[in-house]
Amino acid sequence: MNSASIAVNGRTYRSPDRPLVVVCVDGCEPEYINQAIGSGRAPFIAALREKGTCLTADCVVPSFTNPNNLSIVTGAPPSVHGICGNYFWDRDAGAEVMMNDPKYLRAGTILAAFASVGAKVAVVTAKDKLRALLGHKMSGICFSSERAAEATMAANGIEGVPAMVGMPVPSVYSAELSEFVFAAGVKLMERQKPDVMYLSTTDYVQHKVAPGVGVANDFYAMMDRYLGQLDALGATVVLTADHGMNAKTDAFGRPNIVFLQDALDRAYGAGTTRVILPITDPYVVHHGALGSFATVYLMSSVAAGDAAAKIASLPGIELVLPRAVACARFELPEDRVGDLVIVSERLTVIGTSAGRHDLSGLDAPLRSHGGVSEQRVPLIANRAATSLPAGRRWRNFDAFDLALNYLQ
Ligand SMILES: [Zn+2]
Repeated sequence: MNSASIAVNGRTYRSPDRPLVVVCVDGCEPEYINQAIGSGRAPFIAALREKGTCLTADCVVPSFTNPNNLSIVTGAPPSVHGICGNYFWDRDAGAEVMMNDPKYLRAGTILAAFASVGAKVAVVTAKDKLRALLGHKMSGICFSSERAAEATMAANGIEGVPAMVGMPVPSVYSAELSEFVFAAGVKLMERQKPDVMYLSTTDYVQHKVAPGVGVANDFYAMMDRYLGQLDALGATVVLTADHGMNAKTDAFGRPNIVFLQDALDRAYGAGTTRVILPITDPYVVHHGALGSFATVYLMSSVAAGDAAAKIASLPGIELVLPRAVACARFELPEDRVGDLVIVSERLTVIGTSAGRHDLSGLDAPLRSHGGVSEQRVPLIANRAATSLPAGRRWRNFDAFDLALNYLQ
């Protein structure tokens, strides 16, 4: 690489002096790693105690996948990049609008900036829904496990991916979809030697099982092997997560759900309020579109203070904030957030109306995310850091800052 540093969204990043891999492990509550280390299944990560860096960081709230992946690759919160969930309510259009389209992205990415100064950049994501956002205006390699077989030079900067990886393309609901990401990352590091690579997995396993359960330890043992291979190839590896994950059930494993639209319809009448769940996406089988964050739009007949008090009195609700307060606290774009923001407690999720959630796909007690209770995530590197600022509140979107500006 020839340029000394780049500036993106108000921050400066030194150019990597060796290949850099930033890994976003979807739904990686820190306890998953603790348990995998404790069971002896993650020897590479365990050895980083002696030679690496381990911080605990805060993700963006809503603790959902897209807002956090975009925060990590832009190095900035949603107030800057604009992506604060999968959906927002477009008052002018009178419709729920999906935010998966890059046209809703308001900031450039660190990946695109490095590519523009001649770095070789590669992005591999598990689900295709993130690919276009992560690869926005970026020249280089960018593909998903989900659509690996369809990757072309013109669209993805690579072709023949399944043959390169040596794995069949997995089901979208599988642990293998994430393994494919890691396996592809190792092959790319061997063959293409990217200067900067971003790998993003899916939280299929984390939605299914708690930390320490066999399937979870299997997943982290798999990840540990691939991270060890990337390390052996000379890469700097920084691992973080988009959000944590918690059981959202009672002691019998039954989901604790606040059906917020039903409660508001009873209080004010149907059609006077609109609950938006930004977790809703085309892949809802493993969480039934239930998370710990909602935003509510109110018609003029409903007073915000009155609605806030009613919602706050519901069991399982942790926070009810007016838009301006919520957007200041969580660094969200005001034009894509409703009049109120609601966050539920660790064991509770928020639904719209009981009839609108299909829970038939849930074959295990509900685990989900979205709230402040899923904000803590690991921020781990395979190298030691010099002079870390004392007292800094690390964020997951500091991953590139840590990697390029602090690691030895
Ligand atoms: Zn996620």
